[in-house]
Amino acid sequence: MRTRYGIIQAMKNNCIFCAIAEGEIPSFKIYEDDLVLAYLDINPFSEGHTLVIPKVHSEGLLDTSDEMLAAVVARVKKVAAHIKATLPCDGFNILQNNGEAAGQTVRHVHFHIIPRRNGDALAFENRKGDMDALKALSDRLRM
Ligand code: 5GP
Ligand code: ZN
Repeated sequence: MRTRYGIIQAMKNNCIFCAIAEGEIPSFKIYEDDLVLAYLDINPFSEGHTLVIPKVHSEGLLDTSDEMLAAVVARVKKVAAHIKATLPCDGFNILQNNGEAAGQTVRHVHFHIIPRRNGDALAFENRKGDMDALKALSDRLRM
């Protein structure tokens, strides 16, 4: 949803995830409500790798309110359950990076949902996503 506040926020924070939340930058959306947005990572670790963000900007875990974190984690659970039920998926990792030292590259708090398959021996490395495959997958996973 495009709001005056949100657009100002995206510009002020120079934040790509605020711009996605505002629809200024397109995304392969899976789930959205008033507070939270979930969309496919464009350079996924595995098929169905999804990012869950609060729409309101904060940088990391420590500057996000407890109330917002509770809301976001509840959506992480909901989206993860849906992914697990929809994809071939035997388990999943939840990853949440804080600070450059920890591998955070986008300074808008986000939770990764990383689907896993038995014996996949997954290396946690971004692979360039195929846009057509991501589009088809987001159509399949949209809640
Ligand atoms: P971090 O390393 O900060 O925890 O994770 C950032 C993630 O955001 C990376 O996995 C990266 O592939 C993803 N990412 C970066 N830019 C974009 C974008 O414009 N759209 C989407 N969907 N994902 C992005
Ligand atoms: Zn932001």
